[in-house]
Amino acid sequence: MTKYFDYAATTPTDPRVVEEMLPYFTEHFGNPNSLYTIGRDAYKALEDARERIAALIGARPEELIFTSGGTESDNAAFISTLNRYAPDGGAHIITSAYEHHAILEVVEWLAKHDHELTIVKPRADGHVYADDIAKEMRPNTKVVSIIMANNEIGSINDIAAISHVAHEGGALLHTDAVQALGKIKVDVGELGVDMLSLSAHKIYGPRGIGALYLRRGTRFDPLIKGGGQESRRRSGTQNVVGAVGFAKALEIALDDLDAEAIRLSRMRDYLIDEVTSRLENTLATVESDPRLPNIAPLLIKGVEGEAMLLQLDNLGFSVSTGSACSSGSLEASHVLLSVGVPQEIAHGSLRLSLGRWSTQEDCEALVDALVPIVERLRAMSPVYEKMFGSEGYM
Ligand SMILES: *Cc1c(COP(=O)(O)O)cnc(C)c1O
Repeated sequence: MTKYFDYAATTPTDPRVVEEMLPYFTEHFGNPNSLYTIGRDAYKALEDARERIAALIGARPEELIFTSGGTESDNAAFISTLNRYAPDGGAHIITSAYEHHAILEVVEWLAKHDHELTIVKPRADGHVYADDIAKEMRPNTKVVSIIMANNEIGSINDIAAISHVAHEGGALLHTDAVQALGKIKVDVGELGVDMLSLSAHKIYGPRGIGALYLRRGTRFDPLIKGGGQESRRRSGTQNVVGAVGFAKALEIALDDLDAEAIRLSRMRDYLIDEVTSRLENTLATVESDPRLPNIAPLLIKGVEGEAMLLQLDNLGFSVSTGSACSSGSLEASHVLLSVGVPQEIAHGSLRLSLGRWSTQEDCEALVDALVPIVERLRAMSPVYEKMFGSEGYM
């Protein structure tokens, strides 16, 4: 099996989750909207999953809408609310520069469709500050959306403080909690949010199912219209088997959240310490707490991230240079640029993300493989000596 260091991109489905899901493919396959027995059984399973997930994030079951995943939840959070609160345009929305593309693409589209947009930068320590949001609030600000934990650098934001600022200004607060869920506590009451996006496949559940928490009383125009499922907030025959898997995955993740966070953060720190001490001109992008226990964001100066990725892949290691969506593009990661990493250094990004089956042994093997790869790439590089050598300018 590959030595997997990309748990932030997706996770293998936990065998216990698969086992719980199996009967809903074959035996309890009914449409949850049908009135006969097997339909009602499927409905019960769906509502049971909803209750279990809702309870684990401090929500009421009717506040949870099942969606196809984080991307759809992020889209709906903006589009569905603005369609109700500002159907003729003219609303102001605020987000940050290091959101997932599922947010950034939507807000840019909204800005082209008669809404005003402010993009707030995170500070160099990797966090978005409530004070910086407060300065941007306008009388017509309707939705503020700030990611709870960033998927490339792992920074965790003080969403409760940001909610407070948004509410004082009369706006709704949404957070993308896809990376936070299952790794740190996510409680919608404590966070004070109106909307929150979740996805199952980042927490050892199946792909293609997620949820949007929508606080009771929030007006909402369904993004997907049709048969009126999910209390007329998201049409389409519900993914019962996915919901069952999502609930099981969340229960498992929360079962030993604290112990797992300690185990993962030890390996994260090992990776950062070991790489930065064994290779000159390397650093962690941010090391400012609070941050996720499982992401080691590294910058290896003078080397292309893609070159490291491909050579590590040849040796059986799966790593990432940043968000999956930006791989294959030559542009530097918008996340790294947003926290002030210069363009030429951002190209040397290596994001190592750990998870349930990560071991210290694999981390040691990765560092042992990476060090000679970087040394070789640097030796071949015509610019490395010029940039970082004795007469270098960096
Ligand atoms: C993965 C991810 C998403 C997208 O979720 P999908 O379920 O894959 O659509 C959104 N936001 C963040 C922060 C993510 O990491």
